[in-house]
Amino acid sequence: MGEVLGGPTATVNQPDCAGASADRPVLGALEMACVRALPLMNTVDPEKIASGVRLMLEGMGENPQREGLLETPARVARMYQELIAGLGLDPADEITCQFQENIDELVLVRDIPFASICEHHLVPFIGVAHVGYIPRAGKITGLSKLARVVETAARRLQVQERMTCEIADALMSRLDPLGVVVVLEAEHFCMSIRGIKKPGSKTVTSALRGSVQSSQATRAEIMSLISRG
Ligand SMILES: [Zn+2]
Repeated sequence: MGEVLGGPTATVNQPDCAGASADRPVLGALEMACVRALPLMNTVDPEKIASGVRLMLEGMGENPQREGLLETPARVARMYQELIAGLGLDPADEITCQFQENIDELVLVRDIPFASICEHHLVPFIGVAHVGYIPRAGKITGLSKLARVVETAARRLQVQERMTCEIADALMSRLDPLGVVVVLEAEHFCMSIRGIKKPGSKTVTSALRGSVQSSQATRAEIMSLISRG
């Protein structure tokens, strides 16, 4: 994506889960704690999803028996099964291979596309993730693994702020790097097509860990690489 910070943008500087660091700006109402999702109540039940959709259609004043809607509940159930396929999976488990290389510089994959579902409205938020880390003692992983971590974190009911943290923490826990940076930019359909109705607006969240968080110079350099598009 060319214009990383183009268009109207709400920036949420994401603190790490232990709280905001002193040298980063606090953005009042937009700043949110990194809330962990609670364990699942049950396994996915497509029949239940379909029944719920049937009820929704009735609630909308529709007749679920009319021809165009007959297959809709089952179809929506299959769709949601696909959209939440990462539920219960640990994104860190996607980092299945590790290599040893003589590298102690930033590894950054930019513009990884993702689609997730806003857990407040059950509509999509779609965007790109930029994921980078600074290896410790040359410990690296395959570049595609970073995209897989993003995909697994996205494939569940989410809030962007939590997803950002989950990706960063997955890298920290599995690679033990010197630092991690994760920036997510996404358009939320719950803002585009309803409520305030601002299509094109982007929400930007970041999660910084280790040396990326503690060194202002490192942080500035990485952010300029990300926004260079
Ligand atoms: Zn929403």
